[in-house]
This record gives sequence, C-alpha cells and structure tokens, in this order.
Amino acid sequence: MIGYTCKYTPIELLAGFGGETFLLNDEADNFDYAQRVSHINLCSHAKALLEYVNAHGLKEIVLVNCCDSTRRVYDVLAEQGMDFIYMMDLPHENNECSRQYLKAELLKLAKAYGRYTGRKFDYELFAASFDQMQRASKPMQDFIAIAGGRISDGVFDKIAEQTGMLTVNMTCNANRCLDKPQNLQSADFDEVMEWYAAELLSQIPCMRMSDVARRRELTENPYLKGIIYNTVKFCDYYGFEYENLRKEVSVPITKIETDFTMQSYGQLSTRIGGFLESMGMSSSAAGGSVAKGESKVENTKNKKGKYFAGIDSGSTTTNVAVIDRHGKIVDSVTVRTGAKAQRGAEKAFEALKIPRSEISSIVATGYGRNNIAFADDSVTEITCHAKGAYYINDEIRTIIDIGGQDSKVISIDEKGNVKNFVMNDKCAAGTGRFLENMARVLEMSIDELSTIGLSWHEDLTISSMCTVFAESEVVSLIADNKSVPDIVHGLNKSVAAKTSNLVSRVGLASRVMMTGGGARNKGVAGCIEDLIGEKLIIPDNPDLCGAIGAALFAAGR
Ligand code: SF4
Repeated sequence: MIGYTCKYTPIELLAGFGGETFLLNDEADNFDYAQRVSHINLCSHAKALLEYVNAHGLKEIVLVNCCDSTRRVYDVLAEQGMDFIYMMDLPHENNECSRQYLKAELLKLAKAYGRYTGRKFDYELFAASFDQMQRASKPMQDFIAIAGGRISDGVFDKIAEQTGMLTVNMTCNANRCLDKPQNLQSADFDEVMEWYAAELLSQIPCMRMSDVARRRELTENPYLKGIIYNTVKFCDYYGFEYENLRKEVSVPITKIETDFTMQSYGQLSTRIGGFLESMGMSSSAAGGSVAKGESKVENTKNKKGKYFAGIDSGSTTTNVAVIDRHGKIVDSVTVRTGAKAQRGAEKAFEALKIPRSEISSIVATGYGRNNIAFADDSVTEITCHAKGAYYINDEIRTIIDIGGQDSKVISIDEKGNVKNFVMNDKCAAGTGRFLENMARVLEMSIDELSTIGLSWHEDLTISSMCTVFAESEVVSLIADNKSVPDIVHGLNKSVAAKTSNLVSRVGLASRVMMTGGGARNKGVAGCIEDLIGEKLIIPDNPDLCGAIGAALFAAGR
C-alpha cells in the first residue's frame, strides 16, 4: 500500500501501475519518535506522519513538496530507507507553463514507479481508478463545513458527531475532484499525462497555490449553515485565509487549531460547543457521556422540585448555583474539584443547604460538564457565562473570564446572545493556573498575590508569556533583590496583556464584566482596566457566573 498526503498526488497514475494507495491522515498518540528524528517545530501533521510510518512500518510513500515540513519528512524517511519513496514537485500556478512542468513530473514518477514495480502502465486500471477515488461532493441539504488546513480523520469524526448534522470535510486534502479521462484508447501516454496534469491543477486550489480565487466555491452553497475553520499547529498556509473569510461569508464561522492528536479534543469540544450554541444548536448532539445512575446523588427529576441548579465544573473549583422559580439565587457553593469532576459535583451538592430532592433540573457546564451523571444536560461555559453575566447585569456586552486553566473573552448582544468568543486554552499563561504557580514561587497565598502588587513602585515588566519562562524571570528578579510588590505588578501586567489581546480579537464593547477566579485578583483587574480603558464590573461572587447561567438553562428546560 502506498501512503499519500495531498490531493494533488497522482494516485490514479499509481493505480495505472497496479498500485493501491491510501490517504495518510491519522492522529498520533504522541510525537516522541518524530521529535527524536526531526525538529520539534515541525508541523503536527508532519510529526504524525513520521509516527505513522514508524508505528506501521510503512514501506511505500509518495509525497508532494507542499512545504518545508513535508520536505523534512522526505529527508528523514529517505535517510532511513523505504522500499519506495518519491517526492513530486508541485507548481504553484495553473497555467500552460506549470501544466507542462507537472506533466514532466508525472512522467518522471511514472518511470520511477514503473521501474520499482516492474509493471507496465495499464490504461484501463488508470481509467477505472477515477471511479474508485473519493470525489468532493456539493451537498444538497443543510450542512456545516470544516474548511482550511487538513484535519485528521479522528478529530473530523468527533466534530461531525458533535454537530449532529451533515458535516462536510472541505479541508485541503479532502476536496479532491477530478473528471474521468475520455477517449483514452486514441491517446498516447504523453498526451494522457498532459491531460492529467491539467486535471490535477484544475481542482479548487489550496492555499499553497498563488491564485486562490476559486476557493470561494467551497463556501458558496445555499445549504451551508456554518463554517468551522481548521488551522494546523505550526502550519502557516491557513492562518491568513480565515481573517478574509470571516469578513466575506454570511454564515457563522469559528476558528479552531488542531495538532493531529486526540488529546486536544477536550478543549476543542468547548469551542465547537460554544459555536454550535451561538447558532442556536445543542453543543453536544451526543449529550452527556457518563452512564446515568453512576452517582451517589440521585437524579430524581421530580417536576415537583421548586429549584433549579447549575454546576460549573472547572479544573480547579466546582461551583453550584441554585435559583428558584422566580430566577432568584437561593443557594450557592464553591468546592475544590479534585481529581474527578463527578466527585467534585457530588461534594458541592452535599455542601448545599437546599436538599437535592427539592431540585427539579440540573444543567452542567465547564470542563467536566459531560462527566457529571446526575446532570440533565450540558451547555458550554461560553454560553453559560454569557447568560449568567447578562442575568447579573444586562448592560454587559463583553465578558472577560479568567478561569483555572483557560481564559476567554465573549461578546454578547443586547439580548445576551453570544456574538463571538475567543479562548486561550492552549497554554496556562494568563490563567488561574499561571497565578497559582507564581504565588507558589513567591511563597504566598493566592489572596496575598491578588493585592500585594497594588503597592508597587518600580515598573517591572515580565516579558515571557510562557508560565515556565516567566517563573525563571521571577526567580532572577528575586535574585536581583527586586521588591515583591514590583515583581507581582509585573506579573499582573503580563496577565493583563494576554487578556487584552483576546479582547482586541473579539472587539471591545461596553460595559465589560470580569468573571472567574481571576476576577478576585485586584492587581490583575486594575492592569486590565488600564489596558482596555474600561472600568470593569466585577460581581460579588465572580466564580459563580457560569453556574448561574447553567441554572437559568435548567430553569428554562
Ligand atoms: S496545502 Fe495544498 S499542497 Fe499542501 S498538502 Fe494541502 S493540498 Fe497539498
């Protein structure tokens, strides 16, 4: 079997020599091997490719010189030795000169593969292979498109499952579309390869091509209801198109970044869930994941109960808010989540004053939202924070939430509906985890950290946005006998800078509310106000915002 990676790969030509091909598009469990044999900053697809070849002992591969990463993969595999490895040079244009150039490349590949197989080219096999090849389709029913850079099969399937509707893969290597050759009998091989080169280059161009105007065809479909635009970590080709597309298309669009592992799906599902909810759809077509009845807290679903509860299951704390039928908050609690979201939620319910039996409906949100068996439903924290903030103050149009392991900025309209959101869930910088780490380094409590920076004198700057490097910067400032209030102020400024970047990406609209554990940090809040030029509204209990939103959804059920 010959592995290939790109829609411009002449797989029908290989089929003409009896070759069987398959698209290499699997995730990797990790990149340990790839990072041993190549550079750590190789794009995640290239690393997954090396992992696959190594794990499956693949012996034959045809690559297209798409980018530096693909060329590095070729170098590594060629050095290791494979039965058949070939890199085809692909022009960036679709004009007469480039068609002739590609034809020459096809002739070279045909010679190399013919020599390797010892077989002659079979026109019938070549023609027949066009029927077997998957062709990009034009959906004639409502659908969501996954566009942009290549997405791994497993992540695509997960997203399609989460949308619960027709989801079409329109990423770079999925929208392959070639017409069948006609009158092959009368054509010689040279003419066939000339036609074939033109056919390959006449596909809807990918972002590597210099003329990408026809890419508009991908999103010009009346049945298109939304776009999830995929970018691949460390891949530059697809970063730019999103910004243009966002301004052009009339359907909702959101951007995700994937890295050819499944590990990142947990965070991804929140983004996609928030996007689906902003389109008025459920965030999880599959609903809760833990089997019902596993919990010690019985889900009595008694319509008689006069209260509704929301659980915000975060990585650090679990917050529960209980409201009555008039929407009044009648009880709330915050506990450490601990190792299991389920146990965290149980502890929270045990700590509530209002007995479980009087609660008729429960909605969960936060990272653990799909892992709480006694919840009746789950909604992403994007939509719950929007609902909770709007409930607390309906003048709010922007919400800044700094949680335990992510920070997010959400913009809402005059009715409290989510208009747009951005998240920083890729790294701990700028999150509660970052502040906890720095409190540990400075040997103080998180409460002390939240105010000590207010008495700063020397305006120090912590340049690194990465928690690890910021820690070494703090250690060297301590070694330089810099005062602790000045160091903490420097840290507050770096968190504020990260947060205000998110605000500028979503667009600042007044009034602005800050929620989450990070809102308790007066130093950080002050620095954010300085950067965005807006006085922040901070609710009495900023941790509770998501849980209040979830309780309101429970009441609406
Ligand atoms: S970006 Fe273009 S050339 Fe590169 S793999 Fe995708 S389709 Fe092929």
